[in-house]
Amino acid sequence: MRTPVHICVVGGGPAGIVTAIELTRLGFSVHVVDAGHAKAHWPEVASPDLIALAEKLGLLPALANAAVGHLSRKIVLTSRRGLSGDHASTGCLVLDRARLAASLRMAAISKGVVFSIGTAGRMRGCEGALEVPILGSPRQAIIARQVVLAGGRRTRGPGRLELLGERRVTFYGIAESSLVSVGTSVFEGDQEEWSWAVAMRDGLHILTSTLAGASSPQAALDRSLRPYRRNGPARLIRGTDSSLRAANEALGDHWIRVGDALVAPSPLASNGLYAAMLSGVQAARVLNTRMRAGERSRIAAEFYRNLQAASVRSSQAAVDPGANASGGTVLLPAMATTDVQELFLRPGLAITNVPVLQGDLIDEAPALICRSGRAVAFVDGLPVAELIRPLVDGKSLATAVGEWGRLSAETCSRFASLLIAEAFVCPRNACTPPKRPTSP
Ligand SMILES: Cc1cc2nc3c(=O)[nH]c(=O)nc-3n(C[C@H](O)[C@H](O)[C@H](O)COP(=O)(O)OP(=O)(O)OC[C@H]3O[C@@H](n4cnc5c(N)ncnc54)[C@H](O)[C@@H]3O)c2cc1C
Repeated sequence: MRTPVHICVVGGGPAGIVTAIELTRLGFSVHVVDAGHAKAHWPEVASPDLIALAEKLGLLPALANAAVGHLSRKIVLTSRRGLSGDHASTGCLVLDRARLAASLRMAAISKGVVFSIGTAGRMRGCEGALEVPILGSPRQAIIARQVVLAGGRRTRGPGRLELLGERRVTFYGIAESSLVSVGTSVFEGDQEEWSWAVAMRDGLHILTSTLAGASSPQAALDRSLRPYRRNGPARLIRGTDSSLRAANEALGDHWIRVGDALVAPSPLASNGLYAAMLSGVQAARVLNTRMRAGERSRIAAEFYRNLQAASVRSSQAAVDPGANASGGTVLLPAMATTDVQELFLRPGLAITNVPVLQGDLIDEAPALICRSGRAVAFVDGLPVAELIRPLVDGKSLATAVGEWGRLSAETCSRFASLLIAEAFVCPRNACTPPKRPTSP
Protein backbone atom coordinates (compact mmCIF):
# COMPACT_ATOMS: atom_id res chain seq x y z
CA MET A 1 0.00 0.00 0.00
CA ARG A 2 1.36 3.45 -0.95
CA THR A 3 -0.05 6.18 1.28
CA PRO A 4 0.20 9.71 -0.20
CA VAL A 5 0.59 12.54 2.34
CA HIS A 6 2.00 16.05 2.38
CA ILE A 7 4.65 15.21 4.99
CA CYS A 8 6.16 12.01 6.36
CA VAL A 9 7.84 12.23 9.78
CA VAL A 10 10.40 9.48 10.41
CA GLY A 11 10.61 9.01 14.19
CA GLY A 12 7.91 9.51 16.82
CA GLY A 13 9.98 10.89 19.72
CA PRO A 14 9.28 14.34 21.24
CA ALA A 15 10.73 16.18 18.22
CA GLY A 16 8.86 14.17 15.58
CA ILE A 17 5.57 14.35 17.45
CA VAL A 18 5.70 18.11 18.00
CA THR A 19 6.62 18.66 14.32
CA ALA A 20 3.69 16.47 13.30
CA ILE A 21 1.24 18.26 15.60
CA GLU A 22 2.33 21.68 14.35
CA LEU A 23 2.15 20.64 10.69
CA THR A 24 -1.32 19.17 11.23
CA ARG A 25 -2.42 22.44 12.85
CA LEU A 26 -1.09 24.25 9.77
CA GLY A 27 -3.40 22.16 7.58
CA PHE A 28 -1.04 19.49 6.17
CA SER A 29 -1.65 15.75 6.11
CA VAL A 30 1.07 14.14 8.21
CA HIS A 31 2.08 10.51 8.68
CA VAL A 32 4.53 9.53 11.45
CA VAL A 33 6.49 6.29 11.11
CA ASP A 34 7.95 5.20 14.44
CA ALA A 35 10.06 2.14 15.08
CA GLY A 36 8.72 1.99 18.62
CA HIS A 37 12.12 1.15 20.11
CA ALA A 38 11.81 3.86 22.76
CA LYS A 39 14.88 5.39 24.32
CA ALA A 40 16.22 3.72 27.44
CA HIS A 41 13.83 4.44 30.26
CA TRP A 42 15.90 6.72 32.39
CA PRO A 43 14.09 9.60 34.01
CA GLU A 44 14.61 13.06 32.53
CA VAL A 45 14.26 16.55 33.94
CA ALA A 46 11.64 18.88 32.51
CA SER A 47 13.39 22.25 32.33
CA PRO A 48 11.34 25.43 33.00
CA ASP A 49 11.70 26.25 29.27
CA LEU A 50 10.15 22.89 28.36
CA ILE A 51 7.18 23.49 30.65
CA ALA A 52 6.57 26.95 29.17
CA LEU A 53 6.76 25.59 25.60
CA ALA A 54 4.49 22.62 26.41
CA GLU A 55 1.95 25.04 27.84
CA LYS A 56 1.98 27.09 24.61
CA LEU A 57 1.53 23.92 22.56
CA GLY A 58 -1.28 22.57 24.76
CA LEU A 59 0.92 19.63 25.80
CA LEU A 60 1.11 20.25 29.56
CA PRO A 61 -1.29 17.35 30.32
CA ALA A 62 1.07 15.00 28.43
CA LEU A 63 3.97 16.15 30.61
CA ALA A 64 1.89 15.84 33.78
CA ASN A 65 0.93 12.25 32.84
CA ALA A 66 4.61 11.36 32.59
CA ALA A 67 5.69 12.98 35.86
CA VAL A 68 7.42 10.69 38.36
CA GLY A 69 7.84 13.42 40.95
CA HIS A 70 9.75 16.60 41.60
CA LEU A 71 13.42 17.01 42.30
CA SER A 72 13.46 17.41 46.03
CA ARG A 73 17.08 16.70 46.75
CA LYS A 74 20.14 17.41 44.73
CA ILE A 75 23.83 17.23 45.33
CA VAL A 76 26.26 18.71 42.89
CA LEU A 77 30.01 18.53 43.29
CA THR A 78 31.87 21.22 41.45
CA SER A 79 33.73 20.15 38.33
CA ARG A 80 36.86 21.74 37.00
CA ARG A 81 34.62 23.71 34.65
CA GLY A 82 32.48 25.01 37.46
CA LEU A 83 29.28 23.29 36.29
CA SER A 84 26.60 24.47 38.67
CA GLY A 85 23.42 22.87 39.92
CA ASP A 86 21.25 25.02 37.65
CA HIS A 87 21.03 22.17 35.18
CA ALA A 88 18.81 20.17 37.47
CA SER A 89 17.09 22.67 39.70
CA THR A 90 15.31 21.49 42.77
CA GLY A 91 11.57 21.57 42.17
CA CYS A 92 11.73 20.58 38.48
CA LEU A 93 9.46 17.79 37.25
CA VAL A 94 11.13 14.45 36.59
CA LEU A 95 9.57 12.58 33.65
CA ASP A 96 9.32 8.90 32.86
CA ARG A 97 10.32 8.62 29.19
CA ALA A 98 8.09 5.64 28.34
CA ARG A 99 5.04 7.42 29.76
CA LEU A 100 6.03 10.66 28.04
CA ALA A 101 6.23 8.89 24.65
CA ALA A 102 2.81 7.31 25.17
CA SER A 103 1.12 10.55 26.29
CA LEU A 104 2.64 12.62 23.49
CA ARG A 105 1.48 10.05 20.95
CA MET A 106 -2.07 10.12 22.37
CA ALA A 107 -2.06 13.93 22.18
CA ALA A 108 -0.90 13.79 18.54
CA ILE A 109 -3.54 11.22 17.56
CA SER A 110 -6.24 13.37 19.16
CA LYS A 111 -5.06 16.25 16.94
CA GLY A 112 -5.33 14.20 13.73
CA VAL A 113 -1.76 12.88 13.29
CA VAL A 114 -1.64 9.37 11.73
CA PHE A 115 0.95 6.84 12.97
CA SER A 116 2.47 3.65 11.58
CA ILE A 117 4.60 1.39 13.72
CA GLY A 118 7.63 0.26 11.76
CA THR A 119 11.17 1.17 10.78
CA ALA A 120 11.42 3.58 7.89
CA GLY A 121 13.96 2.59 5.23
CA ARG A 122 16.06 4.83 3.00
CA MET A 123 13.89 7.42 1.24
CA ARG A 124 14.09 7.76 -2.55
CA GLY A 125 12.78 10.14 -5.18
CA CYS A 126 9.51 9.12 -6.81
CA GLU A 127 7.60 11.18 -9.40
CA GLY A 128 8.34 14.60 -7.91
CA ALA A 129 7.86 13.31 -4.34
CA LEU A 130 9.75 11.09 -1.90
CA GLU A 131 8.96 7.48 -1.12
CA VAL A 132 9.65 6.27 2.42
CA PRO A 133 9.45 2.45 2.57
CA ILE A 134 8.45 0.76 5.82
CA LEU A 135 10.89 -2.09 6.34
CA GLY A 136 9.46 -5.57 6.77
CA SER A 137 6.23 -4.58 4.99
CA PRO A 138 7.20 -5.13 1.32
CA ARG A 139 4.41 -3.14 -0.23
CA GLN A 140 3.94 -0.47 2.41
CA ALA A 141 5.40 2.97 1.76
CA ILE A 142 4.58 6.60 2.45
CA ILE A 143 4.72 8.98 -0.52
CA ALA A 144 5.40 12.51 0.73
CA ARG A 145 6.34 15.91 -0.64
CA GLN A 146 8.60 16.56 2.36
CA VAL A 147 10.26 14.27 4.90
CA VAL A 148 11.10 15.18 8.51
CA LEU A 149 14.07 13.21 9.87
CA ALA A 150 13.33 12.81 13.59
CA GLY A 151 14.97 9.51 14.44
CA GLY A 152 17.14 10.87 17.26
CA ARG A 153 20.89 10.28 17.49
CA ARG A 154 20.67 7.21 15.26
CA THR A 155 19.00 9.01 12.37
CA ARG A 156 20.13 7.79 8.97
CA GLY A 157 19.62 9.58 5.69
CA PRO A 158 21.12 12.70 4.17
CA GLY A 159 23.75 14.39 6.33
CA ARG A 160 25.27 13.03 9.51
CA LEU A 161 25.86 14.00 13.13
CA GLU A 162 29.35 15.35 13.80
CA LEU A 163 30.99 15.14 17.22
CA LEU A 164 31.55 18.51 18.92
CA GLY A 165 33.92 18.36 21.87
CA GLU A 166 34.51 15.38 24.11
CA ARG A 167 32.98 11.94 23.42
CA ARG A 168 30.80 10.80 26.32
CA VAL A 169 28.76 7.71 27.06
CA THR A 170 25.95 7.39 29.60
CA PHE A 171 25.39 4.02 31.28
CA TYR A 172 22.03 3.20 32.69
CA GLY A 173 21.30 0.73 35.45
CA ILE A 174 18.95 -0.18 38.26
CA ALA A 175 19.56 -0.74 41.93
CA GLU A 176 17.00 -2.00 44.38
CA SER A 177 16.12 0.02 47.43
CA SER A 178 17.59 3.35 48.22
CA LEU A 179 17.83 5.77 51.05
CA VAL A 180 16.08 8.45 49.06
CA SER A 181 12.30 8.62 48.75
CA VAL A 182 10.14 8.29 45.65
CA GLY A 183 10.64 11.10 43.16
CA THR A 184 13.81 12.29 44.87
CA SER A 185 16.83 12.79 42.68
CA VAL A 186 20.46 13.12 43.40
CA PHE A 187 22.97 14.40 40.91
CA GLU A 188 26.67 14.31 41.52
CA GLY A 189 29.63 15.17 39.42
CA ASP A 190 33.38 15.25 39.53
CA GLN A 191 35.98 15.90 36.91
CA GLU A 192 35.49 12.69 34.96
CA GLU A 193 32.04 11.36 35.77
CA TRP A 194 28.52 12.59 36.25
CA SER A 195 25.92 10.54 38.05
CA TRP A 196 22.20 10.99 38.21
CA ALA A 197 19.63 8.95 40.08
CA VAL A 198 15.90 8.91 40.71
CA ALA A 199 13.93 6.66 43.02
CA MET A 200 10.88 5.32 41.18
CA ARG A 201 7.47 4.38 42.54
CA ASP A 202 8.13 0.65 42.16
CA GLY A 203 11.01 0.88 44.66
CA LEU A 204 13.69 0.70 41.99
CA HIS A 205 16.45 3.24 41.94
CA ILE A 206 17.49 4.28 38.44
CA LEU A 207 21.09 5.34 38.07
CA THR A 208 22.95 6.84 35.18
CA SER A 209 26.64 7.57 34.91
CA THR A 210 28.10 9.74 32.18
CA LEU A 211 31.74 9.07 31.41
CA ALA A 212 34.27 10.42 29.00
CA GLY A 213 35.06 7.31 26.92
CA ALA A 214 33.44 3.97 27.51
CA SER A 215 35.58 2.47 30.27
CA SER A 216 34.24 0.26 33.08
CA PRO A 217 30.53 1.13 33.04
CA GLN A 218 29.66 -1.37 35.79
CA ALA A 219 32.26 0.08 38.14
CA ALA A 220 31.05 3.59 37.38
CA LEU A 221 27.47 2.69 38.18
CA ASP A 222 28.49 0.94 41.39
CA ARG A 223 30.54 3.93 42.43
CA SER A 224 27.83 6.37 41.55
CA LEU A 225 25.81 7.65 44.43
CA ARG A 226 27.04 4.83 46.68
CA PRO A 227 25.82 6.48 49.90
CA TYR A 228 22.27 6.42 48.59
CA ARG A 229 22.04 2.69 47.81
CA ARG A 230 21.60 0.07 50.48
CA ASN A 231 21.87 -3.28 48.71
CA GLY A 232 24.17 -4.92 46.21
CA PRO A 233 25.61 -3.69 42.92
CA ALA A 234 23.62 -1.87 40.28
CA ARG A 235 22.29 -3.96 37.36
CA LEU A 236 23.75 -2.47 34.18
CA ILE A 237 21.09 -2.19 31.48
CA ARG A 238 22.91 -0.46 28.63
CA GLY A 239 24.96 2.49 27.53
CA THR A 240 24.22 5.26 25.08
CA ASP A 241 26.21 7.91 23.30
CA SER A 242 25.60 11.25 24.97
CA SER A 243 28.23 13.45 23.35
CA LEU A 244 27.26 16.84 22.02
CA ARG A 245 26.74 16.41 18.26
CA ALA A 246 25.29 18.48 15.45
CA ALA A 247 24.20 17.61 11.92
CA ASN A 248 26.53 18.75 9.17
CA GLU A 249 23.43 19.54 7.06
CA ALA A 250 20.26 20.79 8.75
CA LEU A 251 18.01 20.50 5.70
CA GLY A 252 17.86 19.78 1.98
CA ASP A 253 15.27 20.68 -0.68
CA HIS A 254 12.83 17.94 0.42
CA TRP A 255 13.89 17.00 3.92
CA ILE A 256 14.64 18.60 7.27
CA ARG A 257 16.25 17.31 10.47
CA VAL A 258 14.73 17.96 13.94
CA GLY A 259 15.51 17.11 17.56
CA ASP A 260 18.58 15.03 18.34
CA ALA A 261 18.93 14.39 14.59
CA LEU A 262 19.68 18.14 14.22
CA VAL A 263 21.51 18.94 17.48
CA ALA A 264 22.00 16.19 20.06
CA PRO A 265 22.91 18.03 23.27
CA SER A 266 24.84 16.67 26.19
CA PRO A 267 22.51 15.29 28.89
CA LEU A 268 24.34 17.56 31.33
CA ALA A 269 22.47 20.46 29.70
CA SER A 270 19.11 18.96 30.83
CA ASN A 271 17.35 20.76 27.99
CA GLY A 272 17.32 18.17 25.20
CA LEU A 273 13.55 17.71 25.34
CA TYR A 274 13.01 21.45 25.08
CA ALA A 275 15.47 21.83 22.21
CA ALA A 276 13.89 18.84 20.44
CA MET A 277 10.35 20.21 20.70
CA LEU A 278 11.40 23.76 19.81
CA SER A 279 13.16 22.56 16.67
CA GLY A 280 9.93 20.75 15.75
CA VAL A 281 7.94 23.98 16.06
CA GLN A 282 10.50 25.84 13.94
CA ALA A 283 10.85 23.10 11.33
CA ALA A 284 7.07 23.09 10.86
CA ARG A 285 7.24 26.79 9.97
CA VAL A 286 10.12 26.22 7.60
CA LEU A 287 8.10 23.55 5.77
CA ASN A 288 5.00 25.76 5.85
CA THR A 289 6.99 28.55 4.17
CA ARG A 290 8.49 26.13 1.65
CA MET A 291 5.10 24.71 0.70
CA ARG A 292 3.01 27.88 0.87
CA ALA A 293 5.51 30.59 -0.10
CA GLY A 294 8.08 28.66 -2.15
CA GLU A 295 9.80 31.86 -3.30
CA ARG A 296 11.02 32.31 0.30
CA SER A 297 12.53 28.81 0.59
CA ARG A 298 16.10 30.15 0.59
CA ILE A 299 15.32 32.59 3.43
CA ALA A 300 13.59 29.80 5.36
CA ALA A 301 16.67 27.58 4.98
CA GLU A 302 18.94 30.38 6.22
CA PHE A 303 16.60 30.95 9.18
CA TYR A 304 16.79 27.27 10.13
CA ARG A 305 20.59 27.09 9.78
CA ASN A 306 20.91 30.17 12.03
CA LEU A 307 18.70 28.46 14.61
CA GLN A 308 20.82 25.33 14.50
CA ALA A 309 23.96 27.40 15.09
CA ALA A 310 22.30 29.18 18.05
CA SER A 311 21.18 25.84 19.48
CA VAL A 312 24.75 24.49 19.27
CA ARG A 313 26.07 27.61 21.01
CA SER A 314 23.57 27.35 23.86
CA SER A 315 24.21 23.59 24.26
CA GLN A 316 27.94 24.26 24.46
CA ALA A 317 27.42 27.05 26.97
CA ALA A 318 25.19 24.84 29.15
CA VAL A 319 27.94 22.29 29.73
CA ASP A 320 30.83 24.70 29.58
CA PRO A 321 30.03 28.05 31.17
CA GLY A 322 33.26 29.42 29.71
CA ALA A 323 31.90 28.98 26.16
CA ASN A 324 30.59 31.99 24.29
CA ALA A 325 26.80 31.94 24.56
CA SER A 326 26.11 34.83 22.26
CA GLY A 327 22.78 33.39 21.11
CA GLY A 328 21.02 34.36 24.34
CA THR A 329 19.13 37.47 25.30
CA VAL A 330 21.37 40.29 26.37
CA LEU A 331 20.09 41.77 29.61
CA LEU A 332 21.66 45.11 30.13
CA PRO A 333 21.22 47.33 33.15
CA ALA A 334 18.51 49.94 32.93
CA MET A 335 19.77 53.50 32.55
CA ALA A 336 18.42 57.01 33.02
CA THR A 337 17.26 58.80 29.89
CA THR A 338 19.28 61.89 30.92
CA ASP A 339 22.38 59.88 29.91
CA VAL A 340 21.20 59.60 26.35
CA GLN A 341 20.35 63.23 25.44
CA GLU A 342 23.39 63.81 23.28
CA LEU A 343 23.60 60.47 21.49
CA PHE A 344 22.79 60.12 17.79
CA LEU A 345 22.75 57.34 15.22
CA ARG A 346 26.28 56.24 14.32
CA PRO A 347 27.15 57.62 10.88
CA GLY A 348 26.95 54.97 8.18
CA LEU A 349 25.09 52.45 10.37
CA ALA A 350 23.52 49.82 8.11
CA ILE A 351 20.52 47.78 8.95
CA THR A 352 20.49 44.39 7.31
CA ASN A 353 17.65 42.12 6.21
CA VAL A 354 17.61 38.84 8.16
CA PRO A 355 15.22 35.87 8.07
CA VAL A 356 12.63 36.09 10.87
CA LEU A 357 9.50 34.31 11.93
CA GLN A 358 6.31 36.22 11.15
CA GLY A 359 3.32 34.25 12.35
CA ASP A 360 3.56 30.79 10.81
CA LEU A 361 5.78 31.85 7.89
CA ILE A 362 9.39 32.95 7.55
CA ASP A 363 10.12 36.27 5.93
CA GLU A 364 12.86 38.88 5.91
CA ALA A 365 12.92 41.90 8.21
CA PRO A 366 15.48 44.66 8.78
CA ALA A 367 17.67 44.11 11.85
CA LEU A 368 20.54 45.62 13.76
CA ILE A 369 23.47 43.19 13.91
CA CYS A 370 25.28 43.08 17.26
CA ARG A 371 29.02 42.43 17.54
CA SER A 372 28.31 38.80 18.47
CA GLY A 373 26.38 38.34 15.23
CA ARG A 374 23.03 38.31 17.05
CA ALA A 375 20.36 40.04 14.97
CA VAL A 376 17.75 42.27 16.65
CA ALA A 377 14.77 42.61 14.30
CA PHE A 378 11.97 43.12 16.83
CA VAL A 379 11.75 44.56 20.33
CA ASP A 380 8.69 43.26 22.16
CA GLY A 381 7.09 42.56 18.77
CA LEU A 382 7.79 46.05 17.35
CA PRO A 383 10.02 46.24 14.24
CA VAL A 384 13.43 47.65 15.06
CA ALA A 385 13.33 49.69 11.83
CA GLU A 386 10.29 51.54 13.18
CA LEU A 387 11.94 52.17 16.57
CA ILE A 388 15.10 53.65 15.13
CA ARG A 389 13.27 55.83 12.57
CA PRO A 390 13.53 58.97 14.77
CA LEU A 391 17.30 58.37 14.97
CA VAL A 392 17.49 57.88 11.20
CA ASP A 393 15.67 61.23 10.91
CA GLY A 394 18.52 62.85 12.88
CA LYS A 395 16.84 63.04 16.31
CA SER A 396 18.73 62.25 19.53
CA LEU A 397 18.33 58.99 21.42
CA ALA A 398 16.48 60.82 24.21
CA THR A 399 13.93 62.08 21.67
CA ALA A 400 13.62 58.60 20.14
CA VAL A 401 13.01 57.07 23.59
CA GLY A 402 10.21 59.60 24.07
CA GLU A 403 8.60 58.29 20.86
CA TRP A 404 8.67 54.61 21.90
CA GLY A 405 5.31 54.97 23.62
CA ARG A 406 4.25 51.40 22.78
CA LEU A 407 7.18 49.90 24.74
CA SER A 408 7.16 49.58 28.52
CA ALA A 409 9.49 51.93 30.42
CA GLU A 410 11.77 49.01 31.26
CA THR A 411 11.98 47.76 27.65
CA CYS A 412 12.69 51.34 26.46
CA SER A 413 15.53 51.56 28.91
CA ARG A 414 16.99 48.18 27.97
CA PHE A 415 16.76 48.84 24.23
CA ALA A 416 18.42 52.24 24.71
CA SER A 417 21.16 50.51 26.72
CA LEU A 418 21.66 47.97 23.93
CA LEU A 419 21.99 50.74 21.33
CA ILE A 420 24.68 52.37 23.48
CA ALA A 421 26.55 49.18 24.43
CA GLU A 422 26.71 48.08 20.79
CA ALA A 423 27.76 51.59 19.68
CA PHE A 424 24.76 51.87 17.37
CA VAL A 425 24.57 55.43 18.77
CA CYS A 426 27.37 57.81 19.76
CA PRO A 427 27.96 61.47 20.61
CA ARG A 428 27.69 63.60 17.50
CA ASN A 429 30.87 63.31 15.38
CA ALA A 430 32.58 61.14 18.01
CA CYS A 431 31.85 57.64 16.87
CA THR A 432 34.03 55.39 14.76
CA PRO A 433 32.16 52.36 13.50
CA PRO A 434 33.26 49.14 15.32
CA LYS A 435 34.11 46.01 13.30
CA ARG A 436 31.05 43.86 12.76
CA PRO A 437 30.39 40.54 10.99
CA THR A 438 29.15 40.92 7.42
CA SER A 439 26.22 38.55 7.93
CA PRO A 440 24.30 37.40 11.04
C1 LIG B 1 21.55 9.97 29.10
C2 LIG B 1 20.65 11.07 28.64
C3 LIG B 1 19.96 11.83 29.58
C4 LIG B 1 19.16 12.88 29.17
N1 LIG B 1 18.51 13.63 30.11
C5 LIG B 1 17.73 14.66 29.73
C6 LIG B 1 17.02 15.43 30.69
O1 LIG B 1 17.13 15.21 31.90
N2 LIG B 1 16.22 16.42 30.25
C7 LIG B 1 16.07 16.70 28.92
O2 LIG B 1 15.32 17.62 28.57
N3 LIG B 1 16.71 15.97 27.98
C8 LIG B 1 17.54 14.96 28.35
N4 LIG B 1 18.18 14.21 27.40
C9 LIG B 1 18.01 14.54 25.98
C10 LIG B 1 16.68 14.02 25.39
O3 LIG B 1 16.48 12.68 25.76
C11 LIG B 1 16.74 14.09 23.87
O4 LIG B 1 17.24 15.34 23.47
C12 LIG B 1 15.35 13.89 23.24
O5 LIG B 1 14.86 12.62 23.55
C13 LIG B 1 15.42 14.02 21.73
O6 LIG B 1 14.17 13.71 21.17
P1 LIG B 1 14.04 13.20 19.66
O7 LIG B 1 12.59 13.11 19.37
O8 LIG B 1 14.89 14.02 18.78
O9 LIG B 1 14.73 11.75 19.63
P2 LIG B 1 14.35 10.38 20.38
O10 LIG B 1 13.70 10.66 21.68
O11 LIG B 1 15.58 9.58 20.35
O12 LIG B 1 13.25 9.71 19.44
C14 LIG B 1 13.58 9.16 18.21
C15 LIG B 1 12.46 8.22 17.77
O13 LIG B 1 12.67 7.86 16.40
C16 LIG B 1 12.45 6.48 16.24
N5 LIG B 1 13.24 6.06 15.07
C17 LIG B 1 14.58 6.11 14.90
N6 LIG B 1 14.93 5.68 13.66
C18 LIG B 1 13.77 5.34 13.05
C19 LIG B 1 13.44 4.81 11.76
N7 LIG B 1 14.38 4.55 10.83
N8 LIG B 1 12.15 4.55 11.46
C20 LIG B 1 11.19 4.83 12.35
N9 LIG B 1 11.43 5.32 13.60
C21 LIG B 1 12.69 5.58 13.93
C22 LIG B 1 12.87 5.84 17.56
O14 LIG B 1 12.21 4.60 17.74
C23 LIG B 1 12.40 6.91 18.57
O15 LIG B 1 11.06 6.66 18.96
C24 LIG B 1 19.01 13.17 27.78
C25 LIG B 1 19.69 12.39 26.83
C26 LIG B 1 20.52 11.37 27.25
C27 LIG B 1 21.26 10.57 26.21
